[in-house]
Amino acid sequence: MGKKRIVIALGGNALGKTLPEQYLAVQETSKAIADLIEDGNEVIISHGNGPQVGMINNAMAAYSKTDPSHPAITPLSVCVAMSQAYIGYDLQNALKEELLNRGIHKNVATVITQVRVDENDPAFLNPTKPIGHFMTKEEADKAVESGIQVMEDAGRGYRRVVASPKPAEIIEIDTVRDLLNAGEIVIASGGGGIPVIRKNNHLKGVGAVIDKDFASCLLAKELNADFLIILTAVEKVALRFGTPDETWLDAISVEEAEQYISEGHFAPGSMLPKVQAGVEFAASAPGRTSLITLLEKARDGVNGKTGTRIMK
Ligand code: ADP
Ligand code: MG
Repeated sequence: MGKKRIVIALGGNALGKTLPEQYLAVQETSKAIADLIEDGNEVIISHGNGPQVGMINNAMAAYSKTDPSHPAITPLSVCVAMSQAYIGYDLQNALKEELLNRGIHKNVATVITQVRVDENDPAFLNPTKPIGHFMTKEEADKAVESGIQVMEDAGRGYRRVVASPKPAEIIEIDTVRDLLNAGEIVIASGGGGIPVIRKNNHLKGVGAVIDKDFASCLLAKELNADFLIILTAVEKVALRFGTPDETWLDAISVEEAEQYISEGHFAPGSMLPKVQAGVEFAASAPGRTSLITLLEKARDGVNGKTGTRIMK
């Protein structure tokens, strides 16, 4: 099959949760990505950052207790930026090594990526995503005083809660495109991107997290990709997931996917954003295919052998 432009969105299991887990996980992840590159495809990689950004957020909070000159809260936008560099560092090195082992001489680079959100996005009125460490009532009150929103999390204590707005614009998209057109492998838009709002020439970080599935969809549309591959912990998407009459989906149309979404087959916060992102990409132009599958099935999925595909 001919050369395709593929945006790969890596899920949590492609990266692991701890430093040593990530170091090992990226080696396996790199093999699956190198397979696609070896087949002649152009590859752009994006990834999630849930555990990593949580770890960084908690680490900065702990540090502030030892150094009173350090603010108690590190902006979430800064934590996302740190997570992009930390994950990109491991991933770009592992992928470069895997490519060299196969005799493929291509550069791999991570682009620290900001993603603009709309400050009037309704998500800001209803923050839903709990992040970071648990706080006592006293700590929570102090956090609220410093302008942080906090909620009680299922009887376990208080946690910071942030909005999850939709991505509106990838700030570094021209840089990503230039690198791609120069034949390089790019890692971009990690953790959904660093959320920013625009104030004239100034980009201001905001305390939100962007869903990596939606950010990857925007990246794929902007780069005019042929494929959006969302790699996760299941080989296919299911109807009636986890029930005795669970049914795994192969190829479905945009209309079928929309029907299944409206019937509530996909869990919010996990499979729903993937199917929604898949629908949005496939519906955006003819010839665009979305694929949801396991990391180790990426090559088979592109070749139509497995995974759930969404096509117009
Ligand atoms: P990632 O880190 O890749 O974003 P998530 O845990 O957010 O992974 O989402 C993938 C998970 O969604 C699967 O492992 C599965 O447990 C769950 N899931 C929910 N609904 C479905 C469904 N209808 N079909 C398949 N998996 C589903
Ligand atoms: Mg997820």
